[in-house]
This record gives sequence, C-alpha cells and structure tokens, in this order.
Amino acid sequence: MGMRRRRFAAVLQNAAPPGTWPVVLPVVAAAAAIVGLACNVGVTTLAGPAAMLLVAATLAEAFPVPIEHVKSGATSFANVFIVAAAVLYGWETGVVIGAASMLLVEIVTRKSVVRMLYNASLYVLAALAAGLIAEAIPERFRLGLVSSLAFYAVDIALLGAALAVARRENYFRIVSNFFGSTLAPFVVMASTTAVLIQLWHQSPWWSLLIAPPLVAVGLHQRSLIATVTRQRELDRLKDEFMAVISHELRTPLASVYGAAVTLEERELDDEMRARLIGLIRRESTRQTKIVSDVLWASRLDARKVPARAEPCDVGAIAREVTRTAAEIAPANITFDVRADEVPPIVADPEQLRLILANLVDNAVKYSPGGGSIQLRVEAQEDRLHVTVSDQGLGIPADDRERIFEKFSRLDPEMHRGIGGTGLGLYICRELVEQMHGHLSVADNEPRGSTFTFDIPIPTKGG
Ligand code: ADP
Repeated sequence: MGMRRRRFAAVLQNAAPPGTWPVVLPVVAAAAAIVGLACNVGVTTLAGPAAMLLVAATLAEAFPVPIEHVKSGATSFANVFIVAAAVLYGWETGVVIGAASMLLVEIVTRKSVVRMLYNASLYVLAALAAGLIAEAIPERFRLGLVSSLAFYAVDIALLGAALAVARRENYFRIVSNFFGSTLAPFVVMASTTAVLIQLWHQSPWWSLLIAPPLVAVGLHQRSLIATVTRQRELDRLKDEFMAVISHELRTPLASVYGAAVTLEERELDDEMRARLIGLIRRESTRQTKIVSDVLWASRLDARKVPARAEPCDVGAIAREVTRTAAEIAPANITFDVRADEVPPIVADPEQLRLILANLVDNAVKYSPGGGSIQLRVEAQEDRLHVTVSDQGLGIPADDRERIFEKFSRLDPEMHRGIGGTGLGLYICRELVEQMHGHLSVADNEPRGSTFTFDIPIPTKGG
C-alpha cells in the first residue's frame, strides 16, 4: 500500500536493525525469485500499453499524497496501477511494475539499500497476491476489488512484521493499528482501481481520463496539509510566546516592585537611590517595549498601519536612537554612527525610529560579550542604505530567514538568559516592506551580524 514507509525509514536507517534479518532476508529472497520468474512475461508486456501503468505507478510513488490521521506521512497511489496491471496483464506484469516503480523512486531519492529492497519486495509479494487472486476469479467478475484487498493485506502484514521485530512490539497490535488508520484510503484506492480497470477494457486511452481527478485530489490534499502544518507550527510558536511573555512581564515587575518598596521604606544613600531608580527606569523601558511590540504586531497583522508621509532626517533619527540605547547599554558596548550627508526622505518618522531602535536594541542584547555596534546610513543613487552591525553572537546561515517570522526566536528556552518576544524583527521587516524596501541579515566580519535594509528615496513629487 506504500503507507507507513516514512516511519519505517526511521527504524531501518541504513542497515536492518539487529533482529530484523529473519524477516527481511526471506522476504527479499522470495521477491527476488518471483521477479526472476516474472521477468520474461512481465517485461515483454511492457512494450505495449502496460508501459503507461508503469509510468503512472512510478509517478504516483514519486508524489505521495499526505493524509491527515495517517501518521506515517504520505500515502502513495502506486498500488492502484500495480493492482490494475496484475489484474489486466497477469501477476508477472504486476510484479515487474511493482518492483520497477519502487526501485526507480527509491534510487532517485537515495534511500538506504535495505529499506529500498524491502519496500520493493513488499510491492512484489503484494502484486503477486493481487495477480493470483485475479486469475482465480472468472473474468466477468474480475473488478479488481478483491485483488486490491489482497495487495493491501499482504503489504501491511509484511510491513507490520518488519516493524514488530525492529521495535520488539506486538505484531497484532501494530497490524491492527495499520489497518485501522488506513482503511478509508484503502477503500478509495480499491474503487479507483476498479474504475481504472473498467475504463482500460474500453481502451487504455480512456483510462487517461482518471489522471486529472487523481492529480487534482493529490494537489488539493498537499496544499491542505501544508496549510494545516503551517497553522500548527504557528500555534506552537504562539504557545511558546505566551510562556516567554508571561516570564518577560512578571520577572521585571517583581524587581520594579521591590525597588519601589525599598525606596519608600528605607533611608538610602544617593548612590543606592540612583541605582534603584536606574533599575526601575530600565525595567519599565523593557516592559513598554514588550507591550508595544505586541501592539505593533497585532496592528500589522490586521493591516491597520497607516503610514505618515513626512520629510525625515534619517541621520538624526539614527543618532537619537543610538543615544537612547547608549544610556542603558552595558559599559563594554561602544557605538559608532555614520550618517552624514543623507538627503531627507519622505517616510513615517515614528516607524523609521522603531525599525532602527529594534535593530540597535537587538545588537546590544545579542552582544553579551560586548563589542562595537556600527550604524551606517548612506544614500546611493535613488536608495537609502541602512546597516546595523554588531560583534555579538551572530546568526547561523540556516536561520537567517526564520528569525523574521512572527514569534521566532533562536533560543526560546533562554539558555543564554536573553529574553524577548520574537516579534521585533517581524515588525521591522513588515514596516520596511511597507516602505518598499527589504530587510536582510548577513555575517559581520570577523564575528556578529549585519542587518541591512534599503528604501527608495522618492524623487520630487514621488
Ligand atoms: P527577540 O529579540 O524579541 O527574541 P526578534 O524578532 O527581535 O525577537 O529577533 C528574533 C531572534 O533573532 C532573536 O531571538 C535572536 O535569536 C535572533 N537575533 C536577532 N537579532 C540578533 C543579533 N543582532 N545577533 C544575533 N541574533 C539575533
């Protein structure tokens, strides 16, 4: 049936796990003998229309259809064509098509050899069962339904056997689980097989009519599952976000409260007072940022972010953002701003400030060992280039797109103790894109990261 193969792959990685040989060896040996017997007849029929069934089976095997609740991942419709071949042209043809389609696909996708041989052997034995059953039924009643059932039963029974020995689990439990979760797709496939066989009797060409609905179902199913998977990922990130944000809001609140109580109840020297007031100021700034991130993100989601259009001095904004950041940054961080001779651009100053503040805050936050943070604003022809570089932790190449997604954080468990909402870069990218620009990140030499964006400088009247 082609099901369960993904999970099976995890079990049989590159060699059969110890203990599975007593199942794998006889199955593969029997299949090899059967293919040997079938080759003469099977390969000659492939010179005729049966070749179409081989092509169809290979395509179906290459593009399996994901089905909700079938935990193994995707289900292949190849068995429709293999069973049809066994019923229409005899078990020899079915066996050859089964082995060939599976081997072709698995060789191209470079699966482990054991897995490839075992899977191909399952198709061979299942196709043999389908073909032999068909021969036992008078031609008038040879619809393909019983043959489908035979194929399905043999496939699942043998797949279950390998899994049961590999995982040392109860065979009957595994097999009954398989049957339970794949029964509905089986019914669909069996009736598709019967329809295909009926059409084939009219003319093999007529049976091509079955392709569009099958392809449509497959494509639809794929896009559906992709959407559901994406939605689940978003849900997971949201849960993670809730956990992080409650932590982020509660922890500083406790220290603000503690500082306020101390200031109120005790006589303190000036230095201590200044320290506590500094703490209250820092923590409340952080809290305001968290709350404002959440508000911005929800406004961006709702597409309710009107942008003002005013002449802005990006250089002045950059200097102001840096000054504010420097006030609360640790002493081991230095700032270097170069933003001279930048022509004014027409944009929303509040949004520009937010983008720069987020990038600079991140640069500070993700430089726990200190370092220099550089801000550059340059005009090049009709675009304004802005870069923010740091010498901090850096971002692995594989994560450079993910960090711009909503709620996405590289260290959600906060192993490094750096908190955040995962919203900052999402907001930055959305806002830059609203300004018709693009925000991306690259390595900074010798360490750290460089965030860059550019926005058009509108020409007069633009
Ligand atoms: P937050 O900082 O609140 O977690 P962001 O959306 O601003 O959310 O950033 C997403 C993630 O990208 C961060 O959690 C961090 O892992 C990574 N990141 C952002 N800026 C930097 C930087 N300058 N250096 C290293 N990592 C960064």
